[in-house]
Amino acid sequence: MKKIIIANWKMNPSTAREAKKLFSAVKGKVASLRGNVEVVVAPPFVYLPILGKSAKIKLAAQDVFFKEEGPFTGEISPAMLSHLGVSYAIIGHSERREHVGESDEMIHKKILAAASRRIRAILCVGENERHREGFPPRVREELFSALKGVPRPLASRVLIAYEPLWAISTNKGAHEDSPESVFEMAIFIRRTIMDIWGKKEAFTVPILYGGSVNPKNAQGFLGVKGISGLLVGGASLRAGEFGDILSVAASL
Ligand code: PEP
Repeated sequence: MKKIIIANWKMNPSTAREAKKLFSAVKGKVASLRGNVEVVVAPPFVYLPILGKSAKIKLAAQDVFFKEEGPFTGEISPAMLSHLGVSYAIIGHSERREHVGESDEMIHKKILAAASRRIRAILCVGENERHREGFPPRVREELFSALKGVPRPLASRVLIAYEPLWAISTNKGAHEDSPESVFEMAIFIRRTIMDIWGKKEAFTVPILYGGSVNPKNAQGFLGVKGISGLLVGGASLRAGEFGDILSVAASL
């Protein structure tokens, strides 16, 4: 199965020149990659039209709005992204939930809008604190609020990125997750998807993992049954490290 590796550059780098440099370094790496990997780069909006086309790298937006056009200052519509050749949109990242106050309701509308416009929606879910026993109810709640009411035919355009907040490298006191716990969470997420959409979707929805992924731990997370790829933050800003993660994915 093709592994999907997504680089989330967040609000980096600070100049277009650096963005182009980073993108061409990734392009160079991808050109020599042998293996079944879908490489996706999610730069800040302003860099989407200037990075140049690459047959082997898909582009993702880090957010998208739920309206088509109109008086929505600062927002970008799914159609605008489509016209730029953008294939994916990250939706509901924990940093947006926290810093921009993005609500569950908005995230639901964004998933619906993106998927309706043939943009593959990467729904981010994750709990605040490490779960010691049982499963985190917040993850189930995030899945339900985002996906309930999204028609089943659109389910094939949705991916889930499980990103526990306590494992995201820039969060205070961050620490690495383990493949064992990611395996359990992937089962929990599929069970929840079964309750929302049904059996077929529960088996087919791609689940990605994100949180302090680096070249050393990538193989462990990618080896987890039921995990289709990775969402990489910090390490994706260092071309060498990101390239090494791609090599790990290609070698599987
Ligand atoms: C993220 O915030 O999406 C993320 C995965 O970040 P990092 O890899 O830096 O933990």
